[in-house]
Amino acid sequence: MIKDKNQSRTDLNNLGEFALIAHLTKHFKITNTSTIKGIGDDAAVLSFKNKQIVVTTDLLVEGVHFDLSYVPLKHLGYKAVMVNLSDVYAMNAKASQITISIAVSNRFPLEALEELYAGIETAASLYNIDVIGGDTTSSTTGLLISITAIGEVAKNDIVYRDGAKPNDLLVVSGDLGGAYMGLQILEREKEVYKVNPNNQPDLEPYTYIVERQLKPEARKDIIKLLKDLNVKPTAMIDVSDGLSSEILHICTSSKVGCDVYENKIPLDPQVISTCEEFNIDSTTVALNGGEDYELLFTIAQEDFSKIKANPNLSIIGHITDASSGTHLVTRANTKIELKAQGWKNFSA
Ligand code: ADP
Ligand code: MG
Repeated sequence: MIKDKNQSRTDLNNLGEFALIAHLTKHFKITNTSTIKGIGDDAAVLSFKNKQIVVTTDLLVEGVHFDLSYVPLKHLGYKAVMVNLSDVYAMNAKASQITISIAVSNRFPLEALEELYAGIETAASLYNIDVIGGDTTSSTTGLLISITAIGEVAKNDIVYRDGAKPNDLLVVSGDLGGAYMGLQILEREKEVYKVNPNNQPDLEPYTYIVERQLKPEARKDIIKLLKDLNVKPTAMIDVSDGLSSEILHICTSSKVGCDVYENKIPLDPQVISTCEEFNIDSTTVALNGGEDYELLFTIAQEDFSKIKANPNLSIIGHITDASSGTHLVTRANTKIELKAQGWKNFSA
């Protein structure tokens, strides 16, 4: 392998596809009993006995979904896995395997892909996921990552988007808007850097929200918590596009309406202070920001006492008849229609 004198840079052309795959995947270990055959044959072989199987896939494209000028490749690998696991957990399932497909141009040296795979490996081992295959090909310019995640769930435990009933409580895990505000910080620092590359960004006041953007965690812990509390949601979805869009998905699928209370939407203090700094309304950010990867679900009223004291969960509203519509009840106690976007001017 030829290495650059100044920096470690191994040209992918000097490696060949098979050596590259072998190199990138050599550390992956199989730990789930449902994985019979992982990487190395024409197809992986899985066996789930009498469980139902959940399959989900996501495609991330450089310049569309991520910007490598401020996203470290290690974080990108980690996040690409989280985005998929989050979808598996949103079905109330246990994630067990992923496949990883990449298209990469020779703009990227081997060392860059090693970083990407280090992030993937960290995510896989933390969440007990087997990497069981993928595909590797070239692209003319950018980087493209497609991950497919597979999970298992007992037939009676599966939770869809369409089971919400009038009077159910609407619950969300964690807090919202952090990933979006983290992105605003990273975009701002990128502009500052363009003007003066010697200017070192001070991200210290924004560590939480930057981490929410760069290194989100899929809420495997919430699935376990609900199981431990003996609560089965009536409907569930993960918050990838923004709270209001996800609420509307549940309401549309379940053919119900809802009242969401603005003052119940969980916000981290750093989100609030950064919103003030940017002069943006924090409710708008929480409703439309996206990429929080929290879980949004509905539960029957009778389960209220099981979750009410939990610091990881916020009850933000309740489900109504479809005829009542989908509403946000503002702090001023006025009801406005909940929209996926478009009420941004409301705060101005
Ligand atoms: P095929 O020619 O049958 O598509 P490949 O040579 O592409 O096989 O892949 C060989 C093995 O390596 C397969 O098990 C495949 O799933 C796995 N694999 C290929 N690319 C990747 C990758 N980027 N990450 C993880 N596994 C991969
Ligand atoms: Mg292949």
